[in-house]
Parts: sequence; structure tokens; C-alpha cells
Amino acid sequence: MKITRFVPKVLFGEGRFSDLNAFIKECFTQSDAYSVYIIDSVHHSTGLYDRLKPETQDLVLEFDASDREPKTEDIDNLCTAILEKRGERKPNVIVGIGGGGTMDVAKGVSILLTNPGSAAEYQGWDLVTEKAIPKIAVPTLSGTGAEATRTAVFTGPVKKLGINSNYSIYDAALLDPDLLLSVPADQEFYTGMDNFIHCVEAYHGSAMNALGKPYAMQAKAIVEDFFLKEKNYADYMVASFLGGCSIANSSVGICHALSYGIAFILGYRHGIANSIVFNHLEAYYGEDVLKFKQMVEKHNIQIPQGVTRGLSSQQIEKMIDLTYMLERDLISTLGPQFKEVLTPDKIVRLYEKM
Ligand code: NAD
Ligand code: ZN
Repeated sequence: MKITRFVPKVLFGEGRFSDLNAFIKECFTQSDAYSVYIIDSVHHSTGLYDRLKPETQDLVLEFDASDREPKTEDIDNLCTAILEKRGERKPNVIVGIGGGGTMDVAKGVSILLTNPGSAAEYQGWDLVTEKAIPKIAVPTLSGTGAEATRTAVFTGPVKKLGINSNYSIYDAALLDPDLLLSVPADQEFYTGMDNFIHCVEAYHGSAMNALGKPYAMQAKAIVEDFFLKEKNYADYMVASFLGGCSIANSSVGICHALSYGIAFILGYRHGIANSIVFNHLEAYYGEDVLKFKQMVEKHNIQIPQGVTRGLSSQQIEKMIDLTYMLERDLISTLGPQFKEVLTPDKIVRLYEKM
């Protein structure tokens, strides 16, 4: 029985970040427990860090998203740090403030504080058994939809894969479009394309149903308007949330499956890796790839080319394995017999184009 889930509480509007403490109090019954803020280190320079108003018992921890995308060991280390500082006493709430990377870190910590072992043990589908600590998303970069999805994506020792679980969904989100104004243009574009690609993949996939489709369509239309007509940050932030609602209840597809190999082996960040791949998927997403190319051209984006040149056969093998790991997404795009259509040889030919 597949139950559709959405983030139950959303506070939206320009300047609403100032209401964060009041929102936490409103959403979660107060106990003598403390809050944990996990904030992207970039916010020392945007000024957001200084706007936090933690109570004395609260913890403010950082994730440096400029360094890299999150690893499972980051989650393990943060949980150890919380344990060392506060012992077995669990926090009341975890607040994740940043882009998709930081929002995923907060999801991971909320899960691993109540589930034993390492984050790597939960990469996969529905492996989490214990209820997570409640969490609030505060996106400062829009597009991944992490504020609304049921996954938290990490690179582990052997794979890049999400913790896909009902416990990965945020309990609340504070959406303040003003927080997007400091994002550099290139980053804004690539993370925006992640949203566009989510919507295209979700919309075309068989995992989609009539309940999820309007979210994908509306989010995609807003992203196109934003990059081809006029930048409206309020609409754009909503588009990320809607895109997240759409994939939370469906699936991504072949682009994401191929892009995980590009990210894992070549180290490209998610939005760039997806753009490198999507650029060559006319055969699957025709019109939408043309629309994508229009946006790339209008914003003078240089999508990396020739990135797979010089890869060893072992690296290619690993990329094929990683692609097939996203089985659910490939089934959604290509059907249950996806390996007959997307053979290892075909994957290599697609990678060669990139
Ligand atoms: P990110 O979180 O990796 O951040 C990219 C850069 O933007 C970093 O340098 C960061 O410091 C900076 N940044 C963030 N907010 C800023 C602001 N307001 N001003 C200035 N700089 C700012 O980027 P992303 O594209 O949002 O997230 C990518 C990550 O999200 C990947 O790890 C990917 O796997 C994951 N992801 C998760 C989901 C999900 O559903 N959970 C979906 C898609 C992608
Ligand atoms: Zn994505």
C-alpha cells in the first residue's frame, strides 16, 4: 500500500526566517530537550548564521557544503559529536539550514540518532525501522526539493545512494525566498536544473500517478519561466517544494541513474552531473532536452564536455554498476525489463558522448 506523504507544516514568505524560533515552538511541544541546528558554513559569510537565536542548551553544528556533497561518515561524525556533548539525551528537533546537501545531512542525523549503526547501513529503500527525531527544513538554495522528498542522499564507502524512508521526510519547512538571494548564479542554475530534470523524469515515469503529476507540471513551468522569462524567487522556491512533492511520490529516471556514476567516479556535484547527462538524452526526453538547451544558452552556462575521456575500464564497470543500482528509477523510465533496453554496452555509448 503506497501512501502519499507531504510535509505537514509549512511557513512561507519573505523575511519569515526571523520567525524560526516561534515556528519551532509552534510545531513541536516543548520539553526540557534542546534543538540542534545544522547550518551550511557558507552562512558565516551570508549573515544568516548571525541571525540564528539558539537557546543556551541548543547546539549549532556546521556542514561545509562548499567542500563536497555529504558522505555517510559525516552523519556518523555529527551524531558522535552530539552524543559527546549531550550524552544519551536526545534533541527535541533538528533544523537543517542550507542547500540539498545540508538538508540531507540534517535528515541523516535525525534518523541516525534513533537508529543504531552507521548511516551507510540505511542506504537503500525502507531500511529504517525507528522513528526519527522531528526535523525542520530551511532551504537556502532551491531545486533539489530535499525539503519535501522521502530521501537523503549520501556517498558511502561503496555507493552513492539515498536513505529512502518515510522517516526521511521533514516534519516542517520554513520557506523564505529572501534566503536565495546570495546564491551564486552558476549554482542557482545547476540546482534549478536538478528540479527541472526531477519534474521531467517524474512526469514521464511509470511510477507517477495523477496525484503527483500536477506538482511536476507546475514546478517545471515555474523553472522555465524563471530561467527564460523573469526571476521571481517566491515562485521559484515554491517550485522546488512542489518538485520535491512530485518525486516524493514517484521516482526519478535514467538521467539520475547515469549521473550517480558521474558524481561517484568523477566527483561532479549533483546538479552539474545531471546536466552533463541530460544534455545527451534527446532520445528519451526530446522536447525537454531542447528546452534545457535553451536555458543553458540563455545563461551562458558551459556544461563540462569530454568528462568521461580517459576513464579506465574498471571505472566504467563501476559506473555501470552504480547506474543499475537505481533500479526503481530505471524501471520507471524503461519498464521492468530495463536491462534489455539499457544494456551495459548502451550505457558505455551514452557515457562516451559525455
Ligand atoms: P549544495 O547543498 O551542495 O550547495 C551547493 C553550494 O551552494 C555550496 O557551496 C553551498 O555552500 C552553497 N550555498 C547554499 N546556499 C547558499 C546561499 N544561500 N548563498 C550562497 N551559497 C549557498 O547544493 P544543492 O544543489 O542544493 O544540493 C545538492 C545535494 O543535494 C547533493 O548532495 C544531492 O545528492 C542532494 N540531493 C538530494 C535530494 C533529496 O531529495 N534529498 C534531491 C536532489 C539532490
Ligand atoms: Zn536530483
